[in-house]
Amino acid sequence: MLMIPGPTPVPEKVLLAMAQRPIGHRSGDFSKIIAEINEGLKWLHQSTNEVLSLTVSGTGAMEAGIINFLSPGDHVLVGVNGKFGDRWAQISETFGLNTTRITAEWGQPLDTEEFRSYLEADSNKEIKAVIVTHSETSTGVLNDLETINKYVKAHGEALIIVDAVTSLGAYNVPIDDWGLDVVASGSQKGYMIPPGLGFICVSDKAWKAYETAKFPRFYMDLGKYKKANLKASSPFTPPVNLMYGLRVSLQMMQRESLESIFSRHQRLTNATRAAVKALGLKLFAADDCASTAVTAVDPSPISAEDIRKIMSSKYNIALAGGQDHLKGKIFRIGHLGFVSDRDILAGIACLEATLMELGHDVKPKAGVKAAAALV
Ligand SMILES: *Cc1c(COP(=O)(O)O)cnc(C)c1O
Repeated sequence: MLMIPGPTPVPEKVLLAMAQRPIGHRSGDFSKIIAEINEGLKWLHQSTNEVLSLTVSGTGAMEAGIINFLSPGDHVLVGVNGKFGDRWAQISETFGLNTTRITAEWGQPLDTEEFRSYLEADSNKEIKAVIVTHSETSTGVLNDLETINKYVKAHGEALIIVDAVTSLGAYNVPIDDWGLDVVASGSQKGYMIPPGLGFICVSDKAWKAYETAKFPRFYMDLGKYKKANLKASSPFTPPVNLMYGLRVSLQMMQRESLESIFSRHQRLTNATRAAVKALGLKLFAADDCASTAVTAVDPSPISAEDIRKIMSSKYNIALAGGQDHLKGKIFRIGHLGFVSDRDILAGIACLEATLMELGHDVKPKAGVKAAAALV
């Protein structure tokens, strides 16, 4: 049982859809599948912009989001309060962008005021992009994208480039309403399908920037993907079977509705957090900036790795560990995608049993009781 923030559980219906013979990707039948998927992706992104599908992991979509819209030496502001914000900064630096890191301690949200002051001071409009990780998966912190984006809009010039890998499909990200320019995501997170596809949703303003952007690009030249999208085609061979699965997972999501998907993720988050507290463990992110995809837990003085080991060996539940300097210090519970109330109750019950086995003083049924009250 996967309780990590990606890859996430895949419904049987999706697995069965993928267990078919691949067909030719240039056939009329496949073109129909692409057309249906493209409509579904626009629905999921709450956008009339084209959503482009690339055969890459999420990081590939992030890199495409940089190289297609910026040029060497451009000044960018990058929010860094965890592993994935740091990844954005590393990509920017690798390509020679003039990168200003706006940092916050891991576990804390980005300070929106810092973005405001940089943007307001930039009267020559040299800042070309503000790059933000919405849900910082390494710490379970949801950054205040809406507020940061308001300052970007007041600036007028800069693009807002977003990693929505663990917020899309778990939290309301109204791309057109907010006017987000470039939004990257990946298949193994909220999409309920295996890893292998990266997605990128691009605004008209970003397409204007694309025309003058100067990084070399070939496979990840998004212009090729846009052109193909408009003909319900793809520039290169897509992962045909993964697309069979995506078609079904998008149908499932549409049947559930965005509103229900978001409220389910919120409910699972609330239940998980209440249970963690009731079990006497510390939540790594505060209530007012909690990601609805993943909950990070600081179990000290109990060892996070001991907890993960027992959860895995005895109950066959995979929890994620900490990354970089948080390795061994925290564990992370994923509740993203194809996750139900039952899954959370089962996971919490096993966590409770694990803590008892480790000699932690747990009030009987405290975790399950707290979670059950909220599902
Ligand atoms: C998973 C994830 C990514 C992408 O990682 P890949 O391994 O390249 O798919 C990017 N950002 C966040 C916030 C993530 O959770």
